[in-house]
Amino acid sequence: MTRISILDKDRCQPKKCDYLCINYCPGVRMDEDTIIIDEDTKKPLISEELCEGCGICTNRCPFDAITIINLPEAAGEPIHRFGQNQFELFGLPTLEEGTVLGLLGQNGIGKSTIMNILSGNLIPNFGDFENNPENWDAVIDFYKGSSLQKYFKDLSEGKIKTVLKPQMVDQLPKVVKGKVKDLLNNVNERDKLEFVTKELQLENVLDRKMENLSGGELQRVAIAATVLREGDFYYFDEPTSWLDVSQRLNAVKVIRSLAEEGKSVLVIEHDLATLDALSDNIHILYGQPGGYGVVSGRKGVRLGINAYINGFLSEENVRIRRNPIEFTIRPPTPEDEGDALSSYSDLNKDYGGFKLTADAGEIFYDEIVTAFGSNGIGKTTFAKLLAGVEEPTDGEVDSEVTIAYKPQY
Ligand code: SF4
Ligand code: SF4
Repeated sequence: MTRISILDKDRCQPKKCDYLCINYCPGVRMDEDTIIIDEDTKKPLISEELCEGCGICTNRCPFDAITIINLPEAAGEPIHRFGQNQFELFGLPTLEEGTVLGLLGQNGIGKSTIMNILSGNLIPNFGDFENNPENWDAVIDFYKGSSLQKYFKDLSEGKIKTVLKPQMVDQLPKVVKGKVKDLLNNVNERDKLEFVTKELQLENVLDRKMENLSGGELQRVAIAATVLREGDFYYFDEPTSWLDVSQRLNAVKVIRSLAEEGKSVLVIEHDLATLDALSDNIHILYGQPGGYGVVSGRKGVRLGINAYINGFLSEENVRIRRNPIEFTIRPPTPEDEGDALSSYSDLNKDYGGFKLTADAGEIFYDEIVTAFGSNGIGKTTFAKLLAGVEEPTDGEVDSEVTIAYKPQY
């Protein structure tokens, strides 16, 4: 069994623990270099060759900074490792012309690393981070005989073009300045501006500046800019975060239009319903967030999503979660029962251009209330009024309760 050790450098605080992991490691006590101190960072470096996997360091570390992981046999050969005691990726998906391939898995399990490798932004080192060859020849040689050999050969020779929609669209205004229509006109290589503008409902933001857009607007502009560019392979990293339900369906339509034109599309998506509507096939990523990630074999979208929900991949014979995800159906809570924790009168908030009105209501103990609706319709304003972040123009909110508020941005 292959074993890897992971050090979370953010958690590791040697000044506060005096290297308990090193002091208690049986290998170190036998004068072996099982754990040494990195001269640059002053943090421990664990030798995976010498480590016996006893787990003493993980138990002794007061900050839970060390994880010792026994890899499943199905993991196969490593594709990329970021460094000693750092995240390792196993496997890559293979793309197919004219289809949308979905990637499903937890955060921190390698989905964005896959996108970076396939889009040519990261050359895989196959776990050999010390002698990282950083050249495409090694990659082409590794995939000899598979479809990825041709893919990486063409990619390295500039014969194929990849287009990537990044995950962090809220960072876009830092690198893209000016009006939306100028940005979209500049990238309109496929002459689809009218189509994407209409389908993604961007007409009203064309004259706005990037720095004045909301998260949902930035996401739709980013999708539009990706679809407008000419490419062979399109990568979308979380295209529907920030979008409401109808905007998600519009995004599905626009992204699927690429596959209908014969393009290859890979999408990272957390929303199972969107993934179902969007993908022809999926790969599930499993492993340990921040530790390692394994790409499963390709699965039909329905079977794959059901396998993910059940937590068991039958082809790989791997259990990815101890228990299935269960969607519990509860009877609706009767509205007139229970004790009210807080209440508010009829509310009105007038920003000049936008006005929100809400009927009076109560919030009960042990209750979760969901505000559901389109983007830009006042959900955040409503939450801000209840949380006391904004004062209503008319009406009152109970100010006696203590409130914790997580803002959208
Ligand atoms: S891994 Fe834990 S025990 Fe070891 S130096 Fe870091 S904080 Fe201390
Ligand atoms: S698991 Fe045991 S042998 Fe391995 S580094 Fe930790 S303490 Fe040392």
